[in-house]
Amino acid sequence: MARLTHSELLAGLEGIVGSDHLSTTEPDRVAYSADFWPKAQIWKLGGDACRFPPDAIVWPGDEAEVAAILALCHEHLIPVIPYGGGSGVCGGTIPIHGGVIVDTKRLNRVLGFDAASATITAEAGINGMHLEDRLNARGMTLGHFPSSIMCSTLGGWLAARSAGQYSSRYGKIEDMVLSLRMALPDGRVLDTAERGPGEPDWNQLLVGAEGTLGLITSATLAVSPLPEARRLRAFRFRHLADGLRGARAIMQAGLKPTVLRLYDPFDSLIALGKESGDEAGGRKSLLHALRDLLSGGGAAGPARGRRGLLSRHLGDLGRSLKRTALTTALSSPSLINGLASAVPSPCLLIFGFEGPADAIHADAWSASELLTECGGTDAGAGLGEAWLAHRYSVSFKQSKLYAMGAFVDTMEVATTWDRLEGLYERVKKVLAPHVFVMAHFSHAYREGCSVYFTFAGYRRDARRAEQHYDRVWQIAMDAVHAAGGTTSHHHGVGMSKMSAMPREHGDGLAVWRALKTALDPHGVMNPGKLFPEDRAAPAEGAEELAP
Ligand SMILES: Cc1cc2nc3c(=O)[nH]c(=O)nc-3n(C[C@H](O)[C@H](O)[C@H](O)COP(=O)(O)OP(=O)(O)OC[C@H]3O[C@@H](n4cnc5c(N)ncnc54)[C@H](O)[C@@H]3O)c2cc1C
Repeated sequence: MARLTHSELLAGLEGIVGSDHLSTTEPDRVAYSADFWPKAQIWKLGGDACRFPPDAIVWPGDEAEVAAILALCHEHLIPVIPYGGGSGVCGGTIPIHGGVIVDTKRLNRVLGFDAASATITAEAGINGMHLEDRLNARGMTLGHFPSSIMCSTLGGWLAARSAGQYSSRYGKIEDMVLSLRMALPDGRVLDTAERGPGEPDWNQLLVGAEGTLGLITSATLAVSPLPEARRLRAFRFRHLADGLRGARAIMQAGLKPTVLRLYDPFDSLIALGKESGDEAGGRKSLLHALRDLLSGGGAAGPARGRRGLLSRHLGDLGRSLKRTALTTALSSPSLINGLASAVPSPCLLIFGFEGPADAIHADAWSASELLTECGGTDAGAGLGEAWLAHRYSVSFKQSKLYAMGAFVDTMEVATTWDRLEGLYERVKKVLAPHVFVMAHFSHAYREGCSVYFTFAGYRRDARRAEQHYDRVWQIAMDAVHAAGGTTSHHHGVGMSKMSAMPREHGDGLAVWRALKTALDPHGVMNPGKLFPEDRAAPAEGAEELAP
């Protein structure tokens, strides 16, 4: 196994993709050194803008080029990091040992559409929204709507087992995939369609591998007709436990809601927006400011429009005071968590159905009956429709919190209905002294549900913030496992949750390692992700890549 020099590597890559589709520029290396993992944002805030730069970035144009890149890197022990939209929030694309980022965005073609069988085959780098648009033009939908749909790809969804907002009806991405093609490190391409019914299904072994086994080049997915109608409605619950009973009743009655989301009191305040803030009264301005920051509202936002100098200065002063108040509160979060618990906010539940107009009317009526029996009060269609209109808005607007030196992150885990409330209470309790925390429940199933925690913390410098961040995750994961929850539900594992995986998978880890050794004997595929490595990383050889 000959080690390549940096220039030999670049020459090899250029020979495959051409000079136009290869980059080693500083801006590209910085941009590709991190995904949306909040910890990487903390590094940046601390002045460390490029902790793990790749050696090169390539944009292959077809599957043959992908296979050739992988074979080159495999032969010369160079790490390969598959890259879709880079919207992952777990550090899954971070090139911790350097190597080659393989950005799939030029693999963006629809390869086939079979109307009779209701399937679509597309290349893995296609943008999620573009794929949905192409289907809509044919009167079909994939039914997969992650909040990141505009900045993520089909390959990234499959690699991280993504879930969309309509998962209770259409399933997660792994429920939609019928077959896929994956380029393996030695340059072969595995096609999971080449099997008969009743034979082993390799799809479920390969989805969720987060680029550690190979690079998915295309996939065939089941699609559905666009619904004739959609109906959304909201209910309010005085107690979270009643809302959970209501959500469970809907799923176990055999109804298939498109949307089913239940927010805890503070997350309800965000979901309800300003309306509920006014209801809660003006005294809770600190909580409202936090709400506005977490929801991207206007409280601490930049000045808009033309205003006088004095008014601008007063605005600056107000923002500065608010910033001080918020950072102080986030430094000792027990207080703010206590305040949030005392907010007399109801728990908001949003549900929706889609399909033939008559059928969804009947389903919505049945769901309303069940929710009423569980103590819910009908809050009308408006809040449901408002959620639909703003469903992609929330997560993109947390940058103000980062700009203040704080961090915000989300943790999505799942468990069975019998453990769900206990898990929620336990995680909130252990995190309360460390970060501000709230949650909502979405992605409901007959047997259980996912719970999505959002937490915000602050330390006055990046080094301490990073330590604090790691500690918070450790505490949270310990609590989740103690309460019988999973490590992840749909964000994947990446670097952030990797240390929790052996505990969850037990002997499965040995099976994983055997598979990894068989498919990727040199360990070049996305090293340092998903499961902890049990051997030296390949990049020890790649250190010699320095020019
Ligand atoms: C604002 C925001 C909202 C989000 N909302 C949701 C949500 O609602 N639901 C949800 O599920 N997730 C959500 N996410 C997380 C993220 O969008 C998903 O994890 C998504 O699946 C990542 O897709 P991507 O194309 O950006 O992948 P990337 O971030 O580029 O990569 C993710 C992982 O997949 C691997 N990978 C990428 N492409 C391939 C390929 N072709 N073959 C093999 N491995 C590959 C990478 O190496 C990496 O390990 C959100 C993220 C953000 C920033």
